[in-house]
Amino acid sequence: MTPEARAADFDAADPLGHFRAHFTLPEGVIYLDGNSLGALPKATPKRLQEVVAQEWGEGLIRSWNSANWFDMASRIGGKIAPLIGAAKHEVIACDSTSVNLFKLIAAALRMRPGRKVVLSEPGNFPTDLYMIAGLEAQGLATRRLAERARLVAALHDDVALLMLTHVHYKTGALHDMAALTRAAHEAGALVLWDLSHSTGALPVDLDGVGADFAVGCGYKYLCGGPGAPAFAFVAERHQADLQQPLTGWFGHAAPFAFSDDYEGAPGIERLQCGTPPVLGLAALEVGVDLIAEIGVARLYGKSQALSEFFLESLMAHNVALELVSPPRASERGSQLSFRHPEAYAICQALIARGVIGDFRAPDVLRLGFAPAYLSFADMAAAARHLAEVLASGEWERAEFNRRAAVT
Ligand SMILES: *Cc1c(COP(=O)(O)O)cnc(C)c1O
Repeated sequence: MTPEARAADFDAADPLGHFRAHFTLPEGVIYLDGNSLGALPKATPKRLQEVVAQEWGEGLIRSWNSANWFDMASRIGGKIAPLIGAAKHEVIACDSTSVNLFKLIAAALRMRPGRKVVLSEPGNFPTDLYMIAGLEAQGLATRRLAERARLVAALHDDVALLMLTHVHYKTGALHDMAALTRAAHEAGALVLWDLSHSTGALPVDLDGVGADFAVGCGYKYLCGGPGAPAFAFVAERHQADLQQPLTGWFGHAAPFAFSDDYEGAPGIERLQCGTPPVLGLAALEVGVDLIAEIGVARLYGKSQALSEFFLESLMAHNVALELVSPPRASERGSQLSFRHPEAYAICQALIARGVIGDFRAPDVLRLGFAPAYLSFADMAAAARHLAEVLASGEWERAEFNRRAAVT
């Protein structure tokens, strides 16, 4: 049976297949970059139109109350919570992932006086490492990086915080959250998990593993739109004492008392800084509602089936590419990454055929499998395109060649 014939059987039996109709996907495009910018839910434009025309246009400032703008950040946080194994009052949608990292790293350092080291791994997502470096430049932190296998050994008694990304952005490799959280706690350190490539793609159990802090992204698998607000998680046990450095008025216990003195809100709301971005939150909420409706367990099952089938389809075409991702589906997130010296040109050749994946320097072709809207037929077609691109050598043409493009 050809991959296409098998795909037809899988799609016919796929209980999530009908959710594709809830997303706008351009004709002729196979979108394998939903791990970078999630697709547009069909309900988003209508909801945004309503927020703009009615809530803003008609309601004006009254909408802070009448349209519940004040509650959006914690309401949406509460909807993200079950996707990551948190209680509703432990999550808030606010700021960007980078800014949330800053707030929580700084807060963690204050909770471990006498310890300054923030431990992470080389090759973590750049912004994560840069945010530690920024606090280091302020004299507040010391950055220590250790390779995966050496992380536990690097948990000396000077480590205040272990900060890692659960699913590696480039390889898709998963960390063992439970084991690392336990090891950090045994060493007297706190733990901050970046869930940017996890949330909405695979189940996470923050409270189950006893995590202290987490952040994640709104525009990847949550389909909140470009630059969507991110989210932050603080375990309930830390909320009363948490002192985050961006003490803006929206994190105040009583913003509209207009007091001269800062007093943090009692709960997760103290993570907020300035006025929440209502339009961005409105778009994010549509994505979160849709992903929550499909359910993260079902999404994870399908994501594993999609990536396994994609690998099978490549084999059917005798494509032998070096897989950088863990070969076992249970050890990776919702993506497959391949190494090739001409990965950039191959990626460009695929995009020219309507197969949108991405390139991560220096030599990785990264294909994301957002399970909410991809079909098995997409997998079969994408695998065929990749096989054809490699066999034809069309990626060697000048238009796909990076050197030609930069000179
Ligand atoms: C996407 C991503 C971010 C994004 O941070 P922004 O502040 O939204 O730009 C951060 N960390 C990781 C691991 C990511 O994958």
